[in-house]
Amino acid sequence: MPPPAAHPAAPATLPDGITIEPIGAFKDNYIWCIRDSAGRAVIVDPGEALPVLDAFRAGGLSLVGILLTHHHADHIGGVAELVRTLGAVPVHGPVDERIAEATARVRDGDRVVIAGLGEGGLAFDVLEVPGHTSSHVAYHGHGVLFSGDTLFSVGCGRMFEGTPPQMSASLDRLAALPADTRVYCGHEYTAANITFARAVEPGNAAIDEWSRRVDQLRASGRPSLPSSIGIERATNPFLRCADTAVARAAAEHAGRSLSGPVEVFAELRAWKNTF
Ligand code: ZN
Ligand code: FE
Repeated sequence: MPPPAAHPAAPATLPDGITIEPIGAFKDNYIWCIRDSAGRAVIVDPGEALPVLDAFRAGGLSLVGILLTHHHADHIGGVAELVRTLGAVPVHGPVDERIAEATARVRDGDRVVIAGLGEGGLAFDVLEVPGHTSSHVAYHGHGVLFSGDTLFSVGCGRMFEGTPPQMSASLDRLAALPADTRVYCGHEYTAANITFARAVEPGNAAIDEWSRRVDQLRASGRPSLPSSIGIERATNPFLRCADTAVARAAAEHAGRSLSGPVEVFAELRAWKNTF
C-alpha cells in the first residue's frame, strides 16, 4: 500500500443506499453493521456471534467483510463462529498475534477497500491509535469513523496498554478529522461519560445540549450514537485538555499544577478511573 500522503482524501459521504445500524451485544457493546440496499453487509467488532446471526436472518443479510479495531474479546469474540456459519470473508484487523482470526492485516495509512458493498464499493483509511491497546486501529471514510474503544462519546477508553502521551496523541488525531465526521464507537457509555464531563466542566453549555439529546435518544430506546467529531471537540474533556477551564479543573483535582495538555490528560484519565 502507498503511504497516506499518496491517497486522495477519504471519500466524504456514504453512497446512496448504504446505512449503518447497531447490533447490540453484551451489556453495552455495539457491533456496527454497514449494509447496502441489496442486503450485503460489513460488520465492525463482532464480540459475539448470536446477535449478528439473528440480525442477518431477520434482515436477509449476507456478510461480505469484517473490520476489527482491537484484540479485546468483546470486539472479536464472535468472528470465528460468524465466518464458520456465514462463510469466509476478509477479516481486516491490526497486526497483533492476539487477533488470530484476522486474514488481512492493516497498518496506519492503509486503505481498506470493500468492493462488494454498494455500487462503487466502500473505502476506509486506517489510523493506528494506540493507548487503549498497543495495536488499536480506527477506520475512517465516507464521513464516518469507527473508533472502537479509543474515542467514546464524551469519553475515551482506559489505557490498558499505553501511556498518556500515546493515548492523547491518538485522540488528537481523531479530533483533527472534519467536524461533521460521524463517530461510531464500541460502547454505549455516553450518559455516564456526561456525568464525569459535567464534574470537570460544569459551565460548558455544549455538554448540556448534547446531554438533552442523548437523554431523548436513550429514553426512546435508541443509541446515543453516532456522535460527531464536532460534538466531541465541544463536549469531550479528553479532547479539551488544552482548554483553560479543563486544565484548571484537572489541576485542582490533582492538587498541584500540571504542565501542559498531556499531564492534564493523564490526570483526567486517572480521575475518571475512580469517579
Ligand atoms: Zn476494548
Ligand atoms: Fe470494548
